[in-house]
Amino acid sequence: MNRRIGYLLIRLALGVALGIAALAALAQPSMPGFLPSVMPIVPVEHNWLFRPIQLDDDLSHVADRTYPYGSTQGGARAVHLGVEFVNRRGTAIYASLAGTVVFAGKDDETQLGPQLDYYGAAVIIAHDVESLAGEQIFTLYGHLDSIAVEVGQEVNTLDLIGSVGSSGVAIGAHLHYEIRADDPFDYRATRNPALWLQHYAGHGLVIGAVQDAHGEFIYGKRLVLRNDKLTRDVYTYASQLVNPDTVWGENFTISDLPAGEYQLVVLSDAGGIAYREMVTVAPLRTTFVTIALD
Ligand SMILES: [Zn+2]
Repeated sequence: MNRRIGYLLIRLALGVALGIAALAALAQPSMPGFLPSVMPIVPVEHNWLFRPIQLDDDLSHVADRTYPYGSTQGGARAVHLGVEFVNRRGTAIYASLAGTVVFAGKDDETQLGPQLDYYGAAVIIAHDVESLAGEQIFTLYGHLDSIAVEVGQEVNTLDLIGSVGSSGVAIGAHLHYEIRADDPFDYRATRNPALWLQHYAGHGLVIGAVQDAHGEFIYGKRLVLRNDKLTRDVYTYASQLVNPDTVWGENFTISDLPAGEYQLVVLSDAGGIAYREMVTVAPLRTTFVTIALD
């Protein structure tokens, strides 16, 4: 397919710069011997995109926390490479940022997911931004009920692009939303949307890497973040199918957190406490935690 080859050529051209930038960036959050384990790393933040469902009391613009990026919903479902915005059929969907529509239609001839007819009616937008590692960024909107754009069309930030539905392989009406880097037609090229969507005022993120003694990611590990106001339960990414962000190198994220102090606990497989640390969430900032377990 021609457009696919075009993107692969762009990807090749970016390859060298990307490699150098990624290595430099990855060196930052993974040096626990030289840096404190908890540190906000402001220069690598890239929460630039608008939420595709807009603020309204009746609508859910917070990604579903039962099936976040990189999770399997407790082993019940396939590893999730996007996030869900669960809303009623027909809810308006908006472009996260300006760009050019590179796909609009059913994925019954062009494969967008692990099989044909997976995302049903879908839209992919190529954005005029690169990640800090030099990757071109795309957003994918799946399971739509209706599509309001066509291939080649230029869209502005927050232009209407379609509406929520349940086309393709979907349980109930929701928007499946993905970030893809460099190749819009490769479902394995995703990144965690939590690291790309804009923060709410007064909120921030806690992300990090849970590693074994050799510095390898530990998959499916349960973490609990809490203070006297809220408790959030998450798991590290389920498998190597889940890409960490090229710049951050994380294997868990906890998003939309009110600024404040929290206790972060990693649970052992037996349910005890394998690790415990206090972390600070600053408004509009990301706090990266490196956790090395024996
Ligand atoms: Zn989904």
